[in-house]
Amino acid sequence: MSSILRTKKIALVDCNSFYVSCERLFNPKIRRKPVVVLSNNDGCIISRSNEAKALGIKMGEPYFKAKDIIIKNKVEVFSSNYSLYGDLSRRVMRTLKRFNSDMEIYSIDEAFLDLSNFPDQDVEKIGKEIRETVLQWTGIPTSIGIAKTKTLSKIANQIAKKKQSGVTSLIGIDNLDPVLEKIEINDVWGVGKQLTKFYNKNGVYNAKQLKNKSNSWIKKSSNVLGSRTAMELKGIPCINLETTTTKRKSCVVSRSFGKRVERFQELKEAVANYCLNASEKIRSESLVAKAITVFVRTSPFQRNYGYYSNAKTIDFPIATNNSIEVVKTAVTILESIFKNGYQYQKAGVMLTGLSNANEKTNLFSSEKDEKISSLMRSIDSTNHRYGRSTLSVASAGVQKKWNMKREYSSKIDTADFYCLPTIRA
Ligand SMILES: [Mg+2]
Repeated sequence: MSSILRTKKIALVDCNSFYVSCERLFNPKIRRKPVVVLSNNDGCIISRSNEAKALGIKMGEPYFKAKDIIIKNKVEVFSSNYSLYGDLSRRVMRTLKRFNSDMEIYSIDEAFLDLSNFPDQDVEKIGKEIRETVLQWTGIPTSIGIAKTKTLSKIANQIAKKKQSGVTSLIGIDNLDPVLEKIEINDVWGVGKQLTKFYNKNGVYNAKQLKNKSNSWIKKSSNVLGSRTAMELKGIPCINLETTTTKRKSCVVSRSFGKRVERFQELKEAVANYCLNASEKIRSESLVAKAITVFVRTSPFQRNYGYYSNAKTIDFPIATNNSIEVVKTAVTILESIFKNGYQYQKAGVMLTGLSNANEKTNLFSSEKDEKISSLMRSIDSTNHRYGRSTLSVASAGVQKKWNMKREYSSKIDTADFYCLPTIRA
């Protein structure tokens, strides 16, 4: 068989209960206990150990709703520690890179690997080897699903999650219908709430039913993405691996203040400025962000003043790099996490879920979007020519009290975005 016709073999490596696994790594006492990790914004449960899942604690459930079960069963509860998770994520990804396959880091705890170079009969064995190595080198347990397309590898991964071995390969299985029949339509990669409702209304409840719908029906009734999903379920790869290792997945701008900040207005100006920097940065790389996180905290060394730290994430309705929208959303978040009476020492914004701006296959983008992006382009080029913040948005403030000390002590730092700490995840 020629190499062009050779089937693709895509592995999805997904860390099991990633945040919980990270906490367990440094805390052996909780290895066999039920554990949950909370988002530190509104106290939702964002990671659960299997023991916690077995107790009926739901993903995304507000902490207070699960509290009774948690107390009764002595569930260990953790606030999220993103710097720990980020570090362990990098270790896992570095380990995966050692396998010399094309690789796409898909999220903090997931990566696609292209195993097409291996013979069909070997891929399951390779999967087990990868799993063993990651466990040995990082201590993080993973599940690995292998199939002909990314969408199918996601499904294989769901099955692998429930298996002792942690590895499932759908390669070499001619008829996948019995497998796909058990996968609910809303569990299919890329099928969101709206699409689920629509498919349900049209009698499509599982992956098999979507796969067997005629392509013309799907094209007519949903969109390009819908038909891509259906093709992928048939085993025809339509979604390529995004292997560029340099491509950033997030952009963080955060600073410690020159002096403690107490007023909302000042904090708002700081956050707005970070937003401007971050959105300009991603625009310069032709990226758009799916979500924004804003975080604030007081100094951990001034506990007598009371310690407070909070963060919250909001998804943009449509991925964006529009400064105005980014600032507006950040201010909304800040309003919900800001508390009076604290001396804030640090704040930051993080744009996440970055993807190429031109790949936006959005059917709802409008003339207005066009106008906004041309406005953004002219802001960028004016600032480029005449110096940062020549053109800005009103919320960014003009006094910048929060920044004063820095402004005098380390000018290069504030003037040059590239000196700001950024993380790549
Ligand atoms: Mg996971």
